[in-house]
Amino acid sequence: MTEAKGTALITGASSGIGAIYADRLARQGYDLILVARSADKLDQAARTIGDATGRSVDTIAADLADPADLRRIEARLTNDRSITLLVNNAGTGSTAKALDAAVDTMSKMVSLNVEALMRLTYAALPAFVARGHGTIVNIASIVAVAPELLNGTYGGTKAFVLAFSQNLQYELEGTGVHVQVVLPGATATDFWEVAGTPVDHLPGEIVMRADDLVDAALIGLARGERVTIPSLHDVARWDAFEADRQTMAGELSTSTPGARYRADEEVLS
Ligand code: NAP
Repeated sequence: MTEAKGTALITGASSGIGAIYADRLARQGYDLILVARSADKLDQAARTIGDATGRSVDTIAADLADPADLRRIEARLTNDRSITLLVNNAGTGSTAKALDAAVDTMSKMVSLNVEALMRLTYAALPAFVARGHGTIVNIASIVAVAPELLNGTYGGTKAFVLAFSQNLQYELEGTGVHVQVVLPGATATDFWEVAGTPVDHLPGEIVMRADDLVDAALIGLARGERVTIPSLHDVARWDAFEADRQTMAGELSTSTPGARYRADEEVLS
């Protein structure tokens, strides 16, 4: 029997990356609360995982872009002291260019990818910090640092997830609460169909299997990684990028403009 680890609440657990997290975390010894809109898929996943692992698997059908549904999940996170791990995975994307994108679809994406993730994190944190123990896994995307690749609103939502997570890592230092942000590259899930470009339209060499992605992310988590980019082979690239960003951060606020902006005679005349 695997050691019990408390309960993991996983959003977007009805398919793709979230469904794999559900399977793997149950096998690691977590009880589960699975959240998504599709009640039937959640119930099926709960039966399969419960039978295979013997863990308790609860499901909550909720549209996280709907404020009332979101508040229900927040309340569960606030009140259920068994929860030790939150996986903020639910999200949608788009491959539409700005001029072709439907703004209401973009707004809904922001509600799900940004607002729901932020509110669920805020709901979970107080109990985690009070207990001195807890984990939050936020699923971002490589478009957080490569916004030219897909729809700009989608890239913006994932840049939020990265920045929000990095701030929390800084603020929560020493509390015992760990925040991991995962940046998947293209992964073979329904995401692409929903986003407007079926995954088989992508070159196979850039697409990872969802189980490989999640298994790699969980190895990163077990090692205490803060930022995990499973598809980046040379991690020195990220380390250099991040070190440069942190060094530059100390130079970004000064009392005078850079010399290149001092008025010269050419501009004044
Ligand atoms: P997916 O198979 O389409 O899964 C998305 C999950 O989110 C489903 O369980 C879906 O379930 C749920 N969901 C969608 N809208 C929801 C809503 N309004 N309320 C609650 N749940 C909702 O795609 P995936 O690839 O596994 O995506 C998971 C995460 O990975 C997303 O955050 C995505 O941005 C990120 N990601 C994916 C890729 C990729 O290439 N696949 C790359 C980078 C990052 P219901 O439809 O049942 O609600």
